[in-house]
Amino acid sequence: MSKRPNYESDEKTFSAEAYKVEKYVGVAWYVLGWETEPDEDTEWTGIENRTGRVVMIMVGDDRRFVFELDEVTALAREEYCSECGQIGCTHDGLDRS
Ligand SMILES: [Zn+2]
Repeated sequence: MSKRPNYESDEKTFSAEAYKVEKYVGVAWYVLGWETEPDEDTEWTGIENRTGRVVMIMVGDDRRFVFELDEVTALAREEYCSECGQIGCTHDGLDRS
């Protein structure tokens, strides 16, 4: 069964605008938040538990991927393109000088 992972946002931990992931060279990602999963109490409490993994989407896409926290590194804004999501592309019109 594959389901869309749920997440809990955490803007303090994930304060950068975008991130990179080791095994996806050249692609910028947005962090949605911590992955959460229901346990046996969720039906009653509505509360899901954090798994310690991170839910992310590629810039320009909305498919959710899950990564370990240590696979994820913050990017500076000028390192990636906010239009196509490529690291090193400068066609989004940002002033990088
Ligand atoms: Zn671009």
